[in-house]
Amino acid sequence: MSETVTKKLMLYFPKCECEKPIIYHLVKDHNLVVNVFRAKVTPEEEGFLVLDVTGTEEQIQSGIDFVKTFNVTVNFTGKGVARDEAKCTHCGYCVPYCPTGALNITDGQTRQVAYDESKCIECLACVRVCPFGACTSAF
Ligand code: SF4
Ligand code: SF4
Repeated sequence: MSETVTKKLMLYFPKCECEKPIIYHLVKDHNLVVNVFRAKVTPEEEGFLVLDVTGTEEQIQSGIDFVKTFNVTVNFTGKGVARDEAKCTHCGYCVPYCPTGALNITDGQTRQVAYDESKCIECLACVRVCPFGACTSAF
């Protein structure tokens, strides 16, 4: 049996595709386990969705192929939250607010703050607390 993997994706929905039951079909027809971190989808506007999908590589690919038939753009980095390296002063203020350790200090000597995007659950705490505006949300 093929190995199961988890991938973080960000989906961008053009205005006209927002009401389609895409998540339902990813689960039912493509046998994916879906964990939605954050969504901004309204009938009048374009929409964004950041989610984890878990399944075999083949299931994930068929789910992505399905999603693309709706003119949905798939960002494979899943970066709803990004850190601007040029703006980050490594002050460390965000670290205790990050619930998953995505923002963390790995080297006690340099005290540099690392950002492991794969651990980010899109809670937006860092966006709110960073004094330098280094953490931003795509939507
Ligand atoms: S609070 Fe902002 S500037 Fe400070 S370490 Fe975190 S991301 Fe960098
Ligand atoms: S959005 Fe939340 S989980 Fe992601 S890096 Fe910022 S504080 Fe951590």
